[in-house]
Amino acid sequence: MSEMFISSRAPDLDLAEVETPCFVIDRGALAANLAVLDEVQRRAGCKILLALKGFAAWPAFDQIRRVLPGVTSSSVHEAQLGREEFGGEVHACAPAYSDADFDTLLGLCDHIVLNSFSQWQRLRPRYLAHRAAGGRELEFGIRINPEHREVEVELYDPCGACSRLGVVQSEFRPDLLDGISGLHFHNLCELGSDALARTLAAVEERFGPWLAGMKWLNMGGGHHITRPGYDIDRLVNVVAHVRERWGLDVYLEPGEAIALGTGVLVASVLDVVNNGMKLAILDTSATAHMPDVLEMPYRPRIVGAGEPGEHTHTYRLGGLTCLAGDVVGDYSFPHPLQPGDKLVFLDMAHYTMVKTTTFNGVRLPSIALWDPQTRALRVVRRFDYDEYKRRLG
Ligand SMILES: *Cc1c(COP(=O)(O)O)cnc(C)c1O
Repeated sequence: MSEMFISSRAPDLDLAEVETPCFVIDRGALAANLAVLDEVQRRAGCKILLALKGFAAWPAFDQIRRVLPGVTSSSVHEAQLGREEFGGEVHACAPAYSDADFDTLLGLCDHIVLNSFSQWQRLRPRYLAHRAAGGRELEFGIRINPEHREVEVELYDPCGACSRLGVVQSEFRPDLLDGISGLHFHNLCELGSDALARTLAAVEERFGPWLAGMKWLNMGGGHHITRPGYDIDRLVNVVAHVRERWGLDVYLEPGEAIALGTGVLVASVLDVVNNGMKLAILDTSATAHMPDVLEMPYRPRIVGAGEPGEHTHTYRLGGLTCLAGDVVGDYSFPHPLQPGDKLVFLDMAHYTMVKTTTFNGVRLPSIALWDPQTRALRVVRRFDYDEYKRRLG
């Protein structure tokens, strides 16, 4: 039964071994991504940070830390996780910081990026007080908005109309740059280095006069570097251009590119019913365990399954919750599905593990690491009732 769904795209492990539901992170696939990122860092002479919002399964940090010099965080909790479990450089970038969160970040971070000059004016005195009290030295950057659109889907476009993300040229305050050592932009989502080159040209046109006075430029995330076909040569050229023309250190902070293709979600069929078509109910959930399937939305790939009608047996795959729309999609299989069959959802490491919920009290998937060299499958976490209860009171 388990052999039936295995293909080369998933970790080569015996599904009978895997409890469900379970996220399995493949250290072999992670190593392949890290080799690509290592090459980019060496050839381009830039630093690549792991964006924790996209992938934060810290039991795998030992491996990532060997290649990447640090992390970027979107909150105090991510910054703390970075400091505790990753080490190296910890950066932060968020649309706004409360006074209390900023003070906490001062103790955790190396770089903090501000989303506006008003925040810089409000928060800088807190940094100066922290320094006067002997606190660690940090560097600060301003997030700019290049006003150049590359992302088609509004939900993911930081340069859309009336975006709150980054300072637009007309709001830029050259008079407030004292103490600012870098600029930051984040304008891409799952895009190539051509989109980066166009964005950089827009940045140079609007913010060129101030780039020259900086120490570093952080070119954000959304670089799909580890996707087959990504033009690495062009990325290397873009980074080289920034270093040579402006004399800047360059940071990239992708999340997705690090974890792309490195994890699967293994689930079991619990029941098969009929209502106009065959419906399989799984021990996972679109809304609780893979929310981007509904939110983005997208259709995840399943090992051994095809489009509806492509193979003999077509099913609508649904989840465990009460939500009528808790449906992953329609898929066909060469064999009929039966309770106990295991399905492998591909590419579930990035942006899925960080977004799960306990809606309906549904148990979160366990987390396991698979090492293809030792052929060891290690479950690092199982979730129990306390996990659900502690979030609510
Ligand atoms: C989302 C985000 C990233 C990471 O983006 P990926 O698409 O996962 O590469 C990096 N920096 C900022 C500021 C972000 O908002």
